[in-house]
Amino acid sequence: MTGRQRTVEWQVAGACNYDCTYCIQSPKYRRGRPDAAQVDRAIDTFAALPGSWEIKCSGGEAFAHPLFLDQIVPGLMDRTPHTLSVLTNLSASREDLARFTALTRGRLRVFSASLHLEFVSVDAFVEKARELVDALDPGVRFVVNQVVFPGREAEAAACKAQVEAAGLRWFPQLYKVKGGVAEYPDAAALHALLGDAPGPRQANLAPSYRGRRCWSGVDYFTVDKDGAAWSCRTAKRHGAGHLGNLFDGTLRLRDTPAACPWDICPCTVPANRGMIEGVGAALVEDA
Ligand code: SF4
Ligand code: SF4
Repeated sequence: MTGRQRTVEWQVAGACNYDCTYCIQSPKYRRGRPDAAQVDRAIDTFAALPGSWEIKCSGGEAFAHPLFLDQIVPGLMDRTPHTLSVLTNLSASREDLARFTALTRGRLRVFSASLHLEFVSVDAFVEKARELVDALDPGVRFVVNQVVFPGREAEAAACKAQVEAAGLRWFPQLYKVKGGVAEYPDAAALHALLGDAPGPRQANLAPSYRGRRCWSGVDYFTVDKDGAAWSCRTAKRHGAGHLGNLFDGTLRLRDTPAACPWDICPCTVPANRGMIEGVGAALVEDA
């Protein structure tokens, strides 16, 4: 395997303690979580994966699962050889973040913290993020994600400045609408934020990689809160790419890559882990 960081994105909780108006998951879908026995079976499956994988825990909100720090993280650390990454809204208590930091010491790869201004001020968020980064191992990649809304580029620019002034990395995501990304009438304001032709490591522009060879389903897959495994999120949205279920032991990965048949690739993880031919091949650690 060259240039590819094998990665699973595991939705450990459907539920979230926030209710952002722009959440891509509807409140109806944003509920449910695996129970202790299902978590156990998922960890068994991860333990049996060949080689070294990155298990990226997301949600909903990962820390909102009551077993996240008591079973999920310790189980991944003790029973698998893999590294861990997390995507969170950073609302967990400082005590819980300290527990997470201690549990994952030496095995944490990427900590992605999403800034949601509907629920937290940028001041409070940056202060907490800075404290956390100071406690993490220096090798952990820490990134602040933020959705940039059309017409609110100035607000995003102010947040970017504050995040970067604290020595943290800011990663913009364009606002997604059904079937693609929203229109941004003020091209100059957007350009000022994103710069020239940002790659998948600089911004999430949800591009199309149709026709490129992709190793999703081989070296990358997603797992939903119900244990269902999919080759990638876009495939799932089209009802394709089902790889079985971790809770009943039916996960079957593909043997070979295939040409991407989709018009939008909304997640940066496959691109930044080297899964897509000719895209970010050298960039294996990112948001
Ligand atoms: S924090 Fe994330 S998952 Fe939770 S409601 Fe907001 S956008 Fe949705
Ligand atoms: S390029 Fe993106 S959308 Fe296409 S198959 Fe790969 S992960 Fe899925």
